[in-house]
Amino acid sequence: MTKKVAVVAIGGNSLIKDPKHQTVEDQYQAAKETTYHIADLIEAGWDVAIGHGNGPQVGFTLRRSEIAAKVEGLHEVPLEVCGADTQGAIGYALQQNLQNELRRRGIKKSVATVVTQVAVDPNDKAFQEPSKPIGSFMDEAEAKRRQQEMGWIVQEDAGRGWRRVVASPLPQEVVELEVVQTLLNAGMVVITVGGGGIPVIRKPDGDLQGIAAVIDKDYASSLLARLIKADLFLISTAVEKVALNYGKPNQKWLDRLTLAEAKQYLAEGTHFAKGSMAPKIQAIIWYLEAGGKQAIITNPENIGRALKGETGTWIVP
Ligand code: ADP
Ligand code: MG
Repeated sequence: MTKKVAVVAIGGNSLIKDPKHQTVEDQYQAAKETTYHIADLIEAGWDVAIGHGNGPQVGFTLRRSEIAAKVEGLHEVPLEVCGADTQGAIGYALQQNLQNELRRRGIKKSVATVVTQVAVDPNDKAFQEPSKPIGSFMDEAEAKRRQQEMGWIVQEDAGRGWRRVVASPLPQEVVELEVVQTLLNAGMVVITVGGGGIPVIRKPDGDLQGIAAVIDKDYASSLLARLIKADLFLISTAVEKVALNYGKPNQKWLDRLTLAEAKQYLAEGTHFAKGSMAPKIQAIIWYLEAGGKQAIITNPENIGRALKGETGTWIVP
């Protein structure tokens, strides 16, 4: 049997189910549920690379760092290091849960988390208009001081105070690609490009350097799926299917979309919300345009049924 490789991008609901369940223990339980469904995929014979989000977790780490600095004068944690910290912590939760589930099922397979850097283009136009708010609210004086002393870009946020904003450039290169590919070739499960990857740039002399930015996790997972020529790109999120006219009276759930239809509906601009569903559809479009074979959007509990063609939204060339 030729091995088939799936890239599974898991969304925020795989770690935080609702605002009342955000503790580390809660996140571990949520990860457990999702990894159970990923184990189904593995049991069905797929080799799997898992990408995941980290937005709220980076937010918690940053705020902890800011509060500790304010109260005790402890050093702060730079944004890209928050990315590395959360890749490790989230990777740990996913990896241990998946190891436990695979062992229960008698499946002999190793699971590894790779701290993964993703290179972006320093000339990406996103850097001209940073738009992603990061960290705690500040008063104007502190915002201006941070701008002066640390080169932060700060913005007033609709009367609620000041916040730091960073760019969200497109992912260009998965730095640890060879590591990920080697682990997959050896039949191991890999957790990688967490939170879209730690954003880095390649300096003119070739050295890598961390940079304060955030990368969309669906875009980074799409890049990975293209680079490893994945046979399936599965995006697990909070909805069972994708809808046209989402949230409107004429909403229509979709079972199947072609690449051409996906491009058309995305271009219409009214169906897929910016910052949530639109980037997922775009991520899948890029994957299919690069020769990808099939993509599915569904929620964790329906991964198994979706694979059998019973639910989810399938997007095909
Ligand atoms: P994730 O953490 O998985 O990336 P997001 O909140 O970013 O989750 O995106 C998934 C959400 O997108 C869904 O829970 C749903 O509320 C929203 N959404 C926006 N447009 C659509 C659509 N057309 N069809 C289905 N869901 C949509
Ligand atoms: Mg999202």
